Amino acid sequence: MPRGNMPRQPSRSGRQEGVRRVDRVPSKTVSAPKARRSPALPGTMLKASAPKSAPKKKFAAGYNPLDPERVRQILATLDQLYPNVTCALTHHSAWELLVATILSAQCTDARVNMVTPGLFEKYRTVQDFAALKPEQLEPDIRSTGFFRNKSKSVVGAARKIVSDFGGEVPQTMEELLTLPGVARKTANVVLGTWFKKNDGIVVDTHVTRIARRLELTRQDDPQKIEQDLMQIIPRERWTDFAHQLIWHGRKLCLARGPKCSDCALEKLCHAADKTWSTVEIHKGAKA
Ligand code: SF4
Repeated sequence: MPRGNMPRQPSRSGRQEGVRRVDRVPSKTVSAPKARRSPALPGTMLKASAPKSAPKKKFAAGYNPLDPERVRQILATLDQLYPNVTCALTHHSAWELLVATILSAQCTDARVNMVTPGLFEKYRTVQDFAALKPEQLEPDIRSTGFFRNKSKSVVGAARKIVSDFGGEVPQTMEELLTLPGVARKTANVVLGTWFKKNDGIVVDTHVTRIARRLELTRQDDPQKIEQDLMQIIPRERWTDFAHQLIWHGRKLCLARGPKCSDCALEKLCHAADKTWSTVEIHKGAKA
């Protein structure tokens, strides 16, 4: 049996902790074959397979992963699963969010949230950070990893904000990208979460993985993934959509061993590395 397609029983509860239970959004356009019951394993759902004589097809007949109705169903399900989601990084200003996002690279949000309260208590303003040498900051952020580079980025960003932007975090993508250590992902977090501007879509490891599993993109470069998603997700949804995928990636759609039997998106998802499936698996749909 192919790796990653091992059928297993759904959990007794049918849900994971922290995830809202939802009725699955009825699918109108996905025409994948229905799963059948195994006589050997009563109650176990088997992966549906095409007849042996059928020619190999990229997708089931009529199936378009980017069909607007399918995308609408995915968005509606995410809304039910993760209403009112926001950034998990603790912050009280655009500057604090910018710093926290820089520190979150290759680090968990939980770890960053343990570090930042003391950090912002010690250095209260962007001017305080700008007055530091990067080496002075290193001990305070050491536990977030890559602390030397992060210290240079935070101090460099603070100096640039003080010298070029009057001490205020700039509010445009173009200006944010001039700050040391700030690329599109960080800029999108600040613009979307603090300034409520949908200038782009945050593409982190969770968004990358789930967008590929759901066949919303076939790219693996973050900028190309963002461009693909911006084509199919309504602009007013960009910020929330990214937050929802990030939460889904943490709760259910894990990198290894996604909890597909508990996932309300299961009928819409044909990912090759699903752990449980009632619909056709697509080899191209993988994390
Ligand atoms: S069905 Fe599985 S792989 Fe697909 S989105 Fe849900 S958890 Fe992820």
